[in-house]
This record gives sequence, structure tokens and C-alpha cells, in this order.
Amino acid sequence: MSDRLPGYEEAAGLVAQFAEGVRAAVPPTERVALASAAGRVLAQPICADRDQPPFARSTRDGFACRAGEVSTHAWLPVAGAIRAGEAPAGPLPPEAVWEIMTGAPVPAGADAVAMIEHVKLIGGKIRFLPPRKLSERENVVAQGAQARKGDLLISIGARLGSAQIAVAAECGYAVLDVFVRPRVAILTTGDELVAVDATPGPGQIRNSNAPMLAALVAAEGGEPWILPTAADSATSLDDALADAAKADLILLSGGVSAGKFDLVEPALERLGARFHFTGVRIQPGKPMVFGELPADQSRAKAGVRARCFLGLPGNPVSSYVTFLLFGAPVLLALTGSLEPRPRFGVARVVDQTQVHGKSGLTRFLPAFWKPGAADGQIAEVALVPWQGSGDLAALARSNCFLVIPEDAESLKPGTIARILLQ
Ligand code: AMP
Ligand code: MG
Repeated sequence: MSDRLPGYEEAAGLVAQFAEGVRAAVPPTERVALASAAGRVLAQPICADRDQPPFARSTRDGFACRAGEVSTHAWLPVAGAIRAGEAPAGPLPPEAVWEIMTGAPVPAGADAVAMIEHVKLIGGKIRFLPPRKLSERENVVAQGAQARKGDLLISIGARLGSAQIAVAAECGYAVLDVFVRPRVAILTTGDELVAVDATPGPGQIRNSNAPMLAALVAAEGGEPWILPTAADSATSLDDALADAAKADLILLSGGVSAGKFDLVEPALERLGARFHFTGVRIQPGKPMVFGELPADQSRAKAGVRARCFLGLPGNPVSSYVTFLLFGAPVLLALTGSLEPRPRFGVARVVDQTQVHGKSGLTRFLPAFWKPGAADGQIAEVALVPWQGSGDLAALARSNCFLVIPEDAESLKPGTIARILLQ
């Protein structure tokens, strides 16, 4: 049976292809204040509103001067002073220097700044201390050296982190056009689930997937919409799915295995779903399903965009891994972001014990990576001991997943392996 399931690469290819289609449709935009733009995706380019820096700027406290003149080590008079925030001054007379502070405009005629630490100042004259020489442009950033007025600094599709927000501020953008966050329905299923603030009865467990998936969705730029948990019954699932179908992306958790009460697939079928795959040769996460709901006028009118769903296995670590592998690429496309997902890296396996691969399944095992011991050394990765795909505490101690290829019998210590970054 598992032979007919796609392998990881094939399934990832199907998801990537779908995500490309999603990217072709530009998301709606809204205007937000710069102060609340962190994490949003830019829907307008950010351009320099003036040269950066806007004037030749001193990067040091010291004396603006002509490099050739001070390098003779002659005593030169201080002709004036300028501090940050003052209008450009000067011109600098011949054979003189101008006291200057970091961030101030360099006076016309000066071509360098001698650092205060490198001069002797006596009675209004300075001497640049031998044997030091000063070069032209030293400690000066020329007007427009970083950007020219009108230059494109940040493109549409960039995620606004702290650096991008600083650039926007530098260029005078008090408000920004960003893409509207896609709404992601989170529909957990299972008769055994109770809310986090409830005391579980015999056989019951708390619903940890709903808050976990909501946090993952929010971190990737989506707007999580947690629906009431659906019971393992056809009517409960039908009702819940009718609601969830109003979202841009539906994440279901649980009910996709082969058990008697795994009723999610039939419920999706009743809605006319088209499945791109109904399982992947991976571990954890093998039973996961991915597909689309049929085009529906009322949904289109309501502005629903992708009409796609991912049915994630209920085991928490399986849900987590399958979201990273298959949910994140679709979600990122919906946000309008150009960032690639999933994110993989490489690291050297340092485990003393061998990692036993499972023939026919690509495995993603909770692991911890850290930088190489010395400069230029590759990162190191070690497995986190775990008790299987329900072991949330092990997941919480990990910061990546070690990827064991389907055909690998083992990964010996020293092997350079792929890691899935969290
Ligand atoms: P299922 O995929 O529905 O067969 O569930 C597989 C395992 O994951 C079972 O042990 C469930 O109790 C558990 N599980 C399912 N949904 C959740 C959830 N929302 N939070 C925590 N555990 C869950
Ligand atoms: Mg279940």
C-alpha cells in the first residue's frame, strides 16, 4: 500500500506547484502604521526619499581636514566646529581643520576626518600625530554612498523585520501598504480532546495541537482561526468543515489515519474535495492528506482565496512536522512573501549511536543543532531522545529535525546530513 504513496520529494513538489499557483494571485492589501508593521509582508516598494546619507557624514569625533595637509604633521588652526544636527558649515579654509562630531556634515573643502584620539590639541591648534597618515575619505561616508534618492531599497514581498522597519523609518514611511494576512482555519478533531483549561476525564487529553498550530500559523504570517473541536462523527465534521471552508487555508488535525473513527477524508469527499495525495512516505506524518475544495461562488464572493486543505495526523509531532513541510509553503505563498519554505540546512551528525533509517520512509527526527566548534566548521546536530510522535516534551527540547533519507540504513557519526529548521 505504502508503495503507491508519493515520497517526500514528490509530495513536496506537488505542494510547491500548488503554492506557485497561489503566488500568481496577488493578495489584497491594507495600510498599517509603521509601529504595527512588524512581521507583515510588504505590498509596496520602499524607495530612498533622499540620498543616503543625505550629506557627507563624519563617522568619528575629531577634525574635518584635508588628508594631505594633516599627514605632514604640521600644527593647523581649528577654524570652526560642527555637531550632529547642525546645518552644513564651511568652507574649510586652506591649511586649517574643523572640529566635528560623529554624524555631523563634513564642511565643504574637507576630504577626511582625523580621529580625536589621533591628534594633539594645544591652544586652538592640532597636530595629527606621527607616524600615522590619513587617507582621503577616511572616516567620511560620502553623500549617496549607501543609496541615491529614488533607489529601490526593499521590494514587494519582503517580510518586515526590524531592519526593514528601520529602513522604512529612515525613508519617512509612517504608514505602509502590506498584504492582508490569510485566514487559516484550525480544525482539530477527536472525541478524546478537551480544552486547555478543562480537567481531562478518564481517557481524555488536552488539545495541544490547536494552540501549537495557531502559534505556527501566526509565526509564518497567517491569521489563525481556531474552530471548536469536532467530534469523531460525520455530522460534527460536516458542520465544522462547512465553517472552515470560509478560510483561505484549512488545517485539520487528526482523523486521517486508517482507524474506524478516522472520518476526515470521507467528510472532505462529501464536500467534493480533490486530493493531491492521501499519504506520504515520511515518518512521522505518513497519513497526511493534501487537496483542494471545489470552486464555489459564495466562497469566492467572500474573498476566500486558496480553497485548499491539509489534513495533518493528530499526533502532535506529526502535526508539527507536516505543517513545516507542507503547510508552511502554502501559507507563505498566501501571505505574498517570497521566502522559501521549508527551510533546510546541513550539519554534521555527532551522535555516538547510529541513527537507524526506516527503509522506504524519509524520517524527520527531533534534533538539536548548534554552530560548529570553531570558525568555518560546519554546524553539529544530535538527536533528542524521544518516545515517538506523541512526545511533545522532546519536540520542545529540539530546534530542528534530522532528515534520514528513505534509502539510508543509518547515519554514522561524522555524516553531513540535512536538517529541517524549525
Ligand atoms: P489521530 O490522528 O486522530 O488518529 O490521532 C493520533 C494521536 O494523536 C492520538 O493519540 C490522539 O489522541 C492524538 N491527538 C489527536 N488530536 C490531538 C490534539 N489536537 N492534541 C493533542 N493530541 C492529539
Ligand atoms: Mg482522532
